[in-house]
Amino acid sequence: MKLTNFVNGGFQQEESAEFVPVVNPATGEELATVQRSTAADVEEAVKAAKAAQKKWALVPAPKRADYLYEIGRLMKERKEHLASVLTKEMGKVIEEGRGEVQEGIDMAFYMAGEGRRLFGETTPSELADKFAMSVRAPIGVVGLITPWNFPVAIATWKSFPAIVAGNAFIWKPATETPMMAYEMAKIFKEAGLPDGVANIVFGSGSEVGTAMIEHRDIRVISFTGSTDTGRKVAELCGRHLKKVSLEMGGKNAVIVMDDADLDLAVDGILWSAFGTAGQRCTACSRVIVHKAAKEKLQQRLLEKMDQLTIGDGMDETVKVGPVINQKALEKIHSYIEIGKEEGAELIRGGEILTGGHFDKGNYYAPTLFAGVTPGMRIAQEEIFGPVISLIEVASFEEAIEVNNGVIYGLSSSIFTADVNRAFKAQRDLDTGIVYINAGTTGAEIHLPFGGTKGTGNGHRDSGVAALDVFTEWKSIYVDFSGKLQRAQIDNKA
Ligand code: NAD
Repeated sequence: MKLTNFVNGGFQQEESAEFVPVVNPATGEELATVQRSTAADVEEAVKAAKAAQKKWALVPAPKRADYLYEIGRLMKERKEHLASVLTKEMGKVIEEGRGEVQEGIDMAFYMAGEGRRLFGETTPSELADKFAMSVRAPIGVVGLITPWNFPVAIATWKSFPAIVAGNAFIWKPATETPMMAYEMAKIFKEAGLPDGVANIVFGSGSEVGTAMIEHRDIRVISFTGSTDTGRKVAELCGRHLKKVSLEMGGKNAVIVMDDADLDLAVDGILWSAFGTAGQRCTACSRVIVHKAAKEKLQQRLLEKMDQLTIGDGMDETVKVGPVINQKALEKIHSYIEIGKEEGAELIRGGEILTGGHFDKGNYYAPTLFAGVTPGMRIAQEEIFGPVISLIEVASFEEAIEVNNGVIYGLSSSIFTADVNRAFKAQRDLDTGIVYINAGTTGAEIHLPFGGTKGTGNGHRDSGVAALDVFTEWKSIYVDFSGKLQRAQIDNKA
């Protein structure tokens, strides 16, 4: 299968274009090839989007929402197929693939509801016979740049609010996971979305991403990916005075207090740390544990870790799938040496899995470091693999300090039976997402998603907050007094 760009409502026929392989990380099988686009392809897509957006902005928002209802319905109808495509190209286990597709379905219906809200404000004017209100106005053509670890959910967090608000979009998916974007293009087409409202341009970040950021007619860039790339994106957007929303890396922690339900904490840690092979932006990679609970927690964690089944995520019994590619394997593995050199104690894992089916894919053993101190690189840097570091603390206050002592601020969690501690924690943990008595993952689409500090730049994906990225506030004054009334001057009683 050859995946070509989706522009102006059709798949391009690009015989002369360059194509690169899409590989199943579980098996090494080539699933498809994908177009490696150029700046000229971006130009063509923007032209189509610009023309389409002018008309799209005039379609009443509840009517725009009708397309989202249809997109959601088609996604629901194809859920199983979409989940299997997702698992094959990205590697997460099929149960999680289904969950991610469901997130997209939820987002479609939720944002469709916004078509009948998109609330602005009416407010009294300081002058008599004058009306004041604010409305959300579409921005125009917006650019979406997404990572491989959530090939569809993140795109829906961005594209659905963009559509309902009256924008047209250019989406550049990650090179590793273009197949879900291709599936979504088919759905956009079948849902009858007007040509040019949704455009997908495949290709590298350096070429296609840069061309999008530099294009004067793309007025917003909504980016999700690593902090290093996000910084480059922000710098370039800054040069072009372009609105940019950044969702970036994390170094998320689970805190386990001495009064915690340890079995529940272990389940939460396993799900957060080893689900998606540790490649969720919200993955738990630090476990901050009260010294009184440390030994018991470590022992129970190891027992459960040893029961994890690792393999191809298409097998329903598998709990931990592969990591995305060889480069990721090498990066994860390099942290094992770093951790050991820093004096951390490698208790489990720490190896690239080989032999049998492991040889075909990219598999890393679930790994546990103990004796980790907060300043170590393994406790500070995003590893993005199935590796957790146990950090021992002596008090609740120290736990909070350790949690907050990293450059990132995406997700955090605390297990405790003490309601006072729970409330203090939700106040004092400095992340964009906080869980009490649950792991670090499990966001729901109707709440804002994003992080503080090095994770973000103040914007949020999903929830109503996402509309802020894709709309401009417009303030409107209607003077029906029939005379000149000057604000701040003629308002004296
Ligand atoms: P990445 O930064 O390598 O790539 C993300 C996207 O940016 C890809 O589409 C890539 O092609 C593009 N890109 C690369 N260089 C670019 C450039 N110079 N200009 C424009 N675009 C460019 O990230 P990744 O490896 O695909 O994803 C993993 C990272 O994403 C992790 O750090 C993870 O924490 C983060 N992430 C964050 C969130 C969140 O919401 N905070 C969600 C998922 C993933």
